[in-house]
Amino acid sequence: MNPQERLKIPRHEVPAQDPDIRRNNYEEVAIGFDENTAIEEAQRCLQCKNPLCMQGCPVSINIPKFIAEIAKGAMDEAIRTIRNTNSLPAVCGRVCPQESQCEKTCVLAKKGKSVAIGALERFIADYDRKNQISKEEVTVSSTGKKIGIIGAGPAGLTAAGYLAKLGHQVTIFEAFHEAGGVLIYGIPEFRLPKDIVRSEIKALENLGVEYSFNTLVGRTITIEELLADHFSALFVAPGAGLPVFMHLPGENLCGVYSANEFLTRVNLMKAFEFPKVDTPVFCGKRIAVIGGGNTAMDAARTALRMNPEEVYIIYRRTEKEMPARLEEIHHAKEEGIKFLELTNPISYAGNDNGWVQEMECIRMELGEPDASGRRRPVAVPGSNFTLPVDTVIVAIGAKTNDLIMRTTQGLETSKWGYLVVDPETQMTTRPGIFAGGDIASAEATVISAMGQGRRAGKAMHDYVLNR
Ligand SMILES: Cc1cc2nc3c(=O)[nH]c(=O)nc-3n(C[C@H](O)[C@H](O)[C@H](O)COP(=O)(O)OP(=O)(O)OC[C@H]3O[C@@H](n4cnc5c(N)ncnc54)[C@H](O)[C@@H]3O)c2cc1C
Ligand code: SF4
Repeated sequence: MNPQERLKIPRHEVPAQDPDIRRNNYEEVAIGFDENTAIEEAQRCLQCKNPLCMQGCPVSINIPKFIAEIAKGAMDEAIRTIRNTNSLPAVCGRVCPQESQCEKTCVLAKKGKSVAIGALERFIADYDRKNQISKEEVTVSSTGKKIGIIGAGPAGLTAAGYLAKLGHQVTIFEAFHEAGGVLIYGIPEFRLPKDIVRSEIKALENLGVEYSFNTLVGRTITIEELLADHFSALFVAPGAGLPVFMHLPGENLCGVYSANEFLTRVNLMKAFEFPKVDTPVFCGKRIAVIGGGNTAMDAARTALRMNPEEVYIIYRRTEKEMPARLEEIHHAKEEGIKFLELTNPISYAGNDNGWVQEMECIRMELGEPDASGRRRPVAVPGSNFTLPVDTVIVAIGAKTNDLIMRTTQGLETSKWGYLVVDPETQMTTRPGIFAGGDIASAEATVISAMGQGRRAGKAMHDYVLNR
């Protein structure tokens, strides 16, 4: 097929469940390509000599190669190509912000018609799972080195898989009773089905990676104790899960949650099935979610599925400045969530039983750009109004927990609380201790956490073998 013919093929959009149906269920919203659609979409790729798409991919997947393989129906080869650089493709195909990464830099993006790279990645990963094609195996003999990983999120899992394949004895210490990090407790089922995450994690177990669950490093055991227990190197990847609040009057009323708590109750503990499960969640009829990022959209869309009358997104800037993925915003709106832009909460008031019953808000307008380059929201005097609500979910961000830094000597942090690491090796300021993912960077995406896990894995391998 010549380039002109390729250019004539229209971009295929990913089919999705009908909004009126999906707002009542937890099943995956995006349905994914079938084989014929995937092949046709793959044929749109121009196979550029200088593939700009790869410049937008934080782990440099060989995008034109795997797309060409799909186009000619060589699915096994496409899977191998992706798995060379990405150990969680079914996850990344679903949650990576492709519109601001590979699809943004694709040469066809100028015409607004970039190749649907994310959907193709998802297709091939799902094809692999259904047909059980790839099998991760350890082909080298044991090095006899013990390596510890703290945190079983995308950063920790990636480093673990990389190191296990090289013959190291890897143990992951995880605070929760299950692996996956935000992939399991944060991102909801309807966006990232948990059986998919579990099956990608299972591949790691097959590599011999061991888990120590319910182990909060810094409390249950310290890094110093792990080092004394003959771990040759450690990778610290506990994420950044400490919720940020606005410290407003009434924020400690019942019914005001952090998004982290709300999503963990529903996703990890399955609280929507209470009393069949142990953990309850209170979700009222009028719900306000504060924030405009992915977490806010996930919290709002999760709350919507608990049958309320109204769910609001309260955001102090406009939709244009929202950090959430465009697809999330689009899906949230389609499902009926109301967006109150240029609005900021000021305080919450409760009833006699201490439950939140209304919030006071103020209208905002956009002023001069701030340090982030986005226009600063400024309160409009006298524009206060009240909104009756019985549940508030605060999703304005999260920060790092300093538990590990407090209980370990020699770990330097930046003024924003991130662990200071060497960007080439991910080594912290203490030799033998490496770190990556949200604890070490503000990038806060699954793929960047995985990229750092892989970089650390390479450097840790060299480090332990040269000691
Ligand atoms: C609701 C939500 C939605 C998101 N949506 C997207 C999205 O669509 N696309 C995207 O790219 N990114 C998204 N992100 C961001 C992304 O999930 C994170 O950037 C990524 O998960 C960071 O990976 P990590 O491995 O550093 O940490 P995490 O995923 O946070 O995993 C850290 C793990 O360490 C464990 N842990 C913490 N402290 C300790 C300790 N002391 N001892 C032992 N274990 C510990 C935690 O229990 C957790 O399992 C989202 C984040 C949230 C919260
Ligand atoms: S930039 Fe776009 S068209 Fe070019 S190789 Fe990458 S995906 Fe294909």
